[in-house]
Amino acid sequence: PTPEGYYPLDEPGLRVWLAQRPALAAKVGGAPADWHITEVGDGNLNLVFLVRGAAGGVCVKQSLPYVRAAGESWPMPLERAFFEYQHQQVAGPHLAGLVPQIWHYDPLLYASVMELLSPHIILRQGLLAGRRYPQAVTAVAEFAARSAVLTSALAQPFEAVFDQAALFSRNHALTRVTAELVFADPFEDLPRNRWTSPELDEVAASVRADAALRAAVARLGHRFLTQQDALLHGDLHTGSVMVSDNDTRVIDPEFAVYGPVGFDTGAFLANLLMAYFSQPGHATAADDRRDHADWILQQAGVFWRHFAQRFDALWQAHADGDAWPRRLFVGEEGVFARARREHLQQVFADTLGFAGAEIIRRILGFAHNLDFEAIADRSQRAAAETRALTLARALLLQPQRFADIDSVLDSAQALV
Ligand code: ADP
Ligand code: MG
Ligand code: MG
Ligand code: MG
Repeated sequence: PTPEGYYPLDEPGLRVWLAQRPALAAKVGGAPADWHITEVGDGNLNLVFLVRGAAGGVCVKQSLPYVRAAGESWPMPLERAFFEYQHQQVAGPHLAGLVPQIWHYDPLLYASVMELLSPHIILRQGLLAGRRYPQAVTAVAEFAARSAVLTSALAQPFEAVFDQAALFSRNHALTRVTAELVFADPFEDLPRNRWTSPELDEVAASVRADAALRAAVARLGHRFLTQQDALLHGDLHTGSVMVSDNDTRVIDPEFAVYGPVGFDTGAFLANLLMAYFSQPGHATAADDRRDHADWILQQAGVFWRHFAQRFDALWQAHADGDAWPRRLFVGEEGVFARARREHLQQVFADTLGFAGAEIIRRILGFAHNLDFEAIADRSQRAAAETRALTLARALLLQPQRFADIDSVLDSAQALV
């Protein structure tokens, strides 16, 4: 039973619905009968339509009352569309040029109408195809740093932050997805888990049996659910980034919730590392992919360093919130600098831990990454996944080995 007024859009239904809304129809342009409409949703959850016409186009994203990747047997409340829209309301003003504009939200259809990103493609697809996007990771780092500082009580009065955290604390359904899929499922014997079997059967069993690993991930799950630092994107993987040669946008913030900043940076770092480990599986006679793999790994370093530098600069420039009253330290720049350094160290440690948890759940849990899935040769795929899992375990169990990002990249390289 869906709410009254809700129906899932299809191509004819969307044509009629958009034609009835002149401001939106004008963004497409021309006669509705001439519009070109395709459904392109490739994610786990929602319907996404691209509508093109004489004036350009729009992208329409609508929630379905179930998990698309699982079917109607896994119901999912529709409200996620509302939280994606709210992310733009709350964080959007800080993220100009880094996210698509949302022009309209329809509370009956749980649908938004947003800027059509064109000729952009999904970053993951570009990396898989062996392409380089030199600006992409700095844009994502900028997105993460701006979100981390500017939606937090470092930069805002605590009352504003508490209200925002309260609003996003209603994002129950998708926060539950994270709580279960990331922090619990891979450590339980559940039918919705899957992995490259039988090749990874033993390693999957050893992950479930590893109490220290389970405790490390549970500790991070605890932080995720209780540490309300800043507004997270909540699903910041390479499939949530669209790129062209000179433009990068972060899409799909439906998992938005207040949480620890390292959750987003860890997810993105993990997805770059998985892209790196997957490269040998995409080698062809013409291209062994070694240069591309090295470039991706280097980008992981660029991502972290840019994030850290921007986080620090934004904190210095916007330290007007209640969380670290800078006015108490006038003339004591060294004290302020040390506080920032220590805080970033905590974010770095969280980032590595969350990256480890993200890698494990993408290889042993429900939702997998195309980087590995697209490797046709099973033994190659298993080998790539095993290397990624080895690094993930080290990140979670031996954090003292990783004093800086270069030590992470060196360890990744030593595994290949
Ligand atoms: P889901 O939440 O189901 O994962 P996404 O928001 O990630 O949905 O969108 C699914 C796909 O739709 C993306 O991978 C991308 O190909 C396409 N898409 C999403 N938003 C846009 C946009 N604004 N412009 C063009 N294509 C888009
Ligand atoms: Mg998506
Ligand atoms: Mg999504
Ligand atoms: Mg090597």
